[in-house]
Amino acid sequence: MMVFKEKNNIVDKTRNPLSSFIDIVYPPRCHICGKFLPYREAKFPLNYICSNCLRDMSLISSPICSICGVPFSTNRGDNHMCEDCTRKRPYFELARAPYFYSGKLKGAIQRFKYNSETHLGKPFGGLLLNFIQKTFHKMDEYIIIPVPLHKKKLRERGYNQSLLLAKALSKKLRLKLDYLSFIRIRYTQNQASLRKMDRRENVKNAFSVTDVKAIKAKKILLVDDVFTTGFTLNECAKSLKESGAAEIICVTLARTPFD
Ligand SMILES: [Zn+2]
Ligand SMILES: [Zn+2]
Repeated sequence: MMVFKEKNNIVDKTRNPLSSFIDIVYPPRCHICGKFLPYREAKFPLNYICSNCLRDMSLISSPICSICGVPFSTNRGDNHMCEDCTRKRPYFELARAPYFYSGKLKGAIQRFKYNSETHLGKPFGGLLLNFIQKTFHKMDEYIIIPVPLHKKKLRERGYNQSLLLAKALSKKLRLKLDYLSFIRIRYTQNQASLRKMDRRENVKNAFSVTDVKAIKAKKILLVDDVFTTGFTLNECAKSLKESGAAEIICVTLARTPFD
């Protein structure tokens, strides 16, 4: 099991030295609001997200559910299990996200998902990477798996936004990325368009492992963009556990506020 770290500072020091010259010719813009980055921020950007946009993102803080990570409406007390997890434990061990799905970040995630703004994969991957490095350690045994899209949806959209995040993470964390052994076998409606009760049914038995050997006994970092009801991630985890996965940690860039 991964061990938690504390603190939540965000700095990216992994820039190419040549990038200073490139920045003079093509001044970097914020990936979220499109404004040119002030010189100071352009020098140490957080993957090109301006300080205004970063300030607008609201960080999730304790107390949260110790399993599914749902933030509690009170800001006092320690993490503990939420009612849903107490009643029925999810198939995943943990789910965590750095930010609330709100404000400018929400708009940007929607553009990332539905408007072909794939350039957001890198800065979003950077934010998630930062969060993972601050939150967990001893991750070298994990493999990364993105929540898969059905091949028909992949054809329609042209890319899987979760795979873009997973790729960014895999590169920086130096963990193996596996996006072939786990697939979505049912073409499902967009969860966002459904009522809560229908969402569970919508993703039921929607996923399948195509290569059991690649999953069996593996510790898995399961990556998605947003945690809403958790039904999708839980259904993924169920399928992966049925194929013998040892442990599943879900990470998403954002999650919806407590409902
Ligand atoms: Zn901005
Ligand atoms: Zn919970």
